[in-house]
Amino acid sequence: MSTPPQSTLESALRQTRAETGLPLNELRILMGCVTGLDRVGLLTKGEQPLPPDQITAFKTLASKRQQGHPIAYLVEHKEFYSRSFFVDPRVLIPRPETEELVEHALGFLQSKSTENLLTRVLDIGCGSGAIAISLALENPILEVTATDISVDALWVAQFNANELGAKNVRFIQSDLFSGLLNQTPALAFDLICSNPPYIEQGDKHLAQGDLRFEPAIALTDGGDGLHFYREIARQSPTLLRAGGGVLVEHGYNQQEAVLAIFSQPPYTQVQGLPDLAGTPRFVFARA
Ligand code: GLN
Repeated sequence: MSTPPQSTLESALRQTRAETGLPLNELRILMGCVTGLDRVGLLTKGEQPLPPDQITAFKTLASKRQQGHPIAYLVEHKEFYSRSFFVDPRVLIPRPETEELVEHALGFLQSKSTENLLTRVLDIGCGSGAIAISLALENPILEVTATDISVDALWVAQFNANELGAKNVRFIQSDLFSGLLNQTPALAFDLICSNPPYIEQGDKHLAQGDLRFEPAIALTDGGDGLHFYREIARQSPTLLRAGGGVLVEHGYNQQEAVLAIFSQPPYTQVQGLPDLAGTPRFVFARA
């Protein structure tokens, strides 16, 4: 009896593509995860035999992908601001638009660092820690505080901070500002930033694509999508240093409403900003 031809990396890719209809680029990412090979390795080692345990692992990932599981959860990481963050279903997968929030925040904090010896920033609802850790690593003299209501998310964020070597960031479990008030000495920040859950309850997007697999608590406020902006606008002033700012990310159709929320004392110079795709995406308000 002749032994069946051994699967190679390339033959497993082609066969799984035919079976699942998944795009080859996605299958290559999954194959990279299973074999530990990078893009060049995958292209040059296509004829390498694939051990049975790796075939099984690859097919399991492909089948999950076919069911719709996000690639980032399957490979357990997501690139954000040129760093690899661990992610799993406990946290929202960081989006490229949010890298622009980091960019705006760094610009503002840079201008503040000439005024204060120590510049402090707060990230409300940190999830995987992508914003807070990126800020901390990009500007090591910042003192970054990040909160989340979810202990699961905080575990992931602290793990990422350890892995990426961010020492100037601390995580606090807090429902919005509840865990931050009444601290002695009182906390005061130059910038409060947030990418809060902003999708309206019942929005059809929640039942589509990656969002089906992400934590609902990170996506929707269970109401009109604006609850967290109202609360951040109301509660931030007590935690802001003079001349401090609030920077929030919002949904594609929410800028007018978020601008209106921040267009009240003590905020001044309220400004809407687009993302790189030209979609209104951020509101910055100075107090
Ligand atoms: N940016 C996510 C999306 O719409 C939503 C995350 C959030 O609610 N902040 O895909």
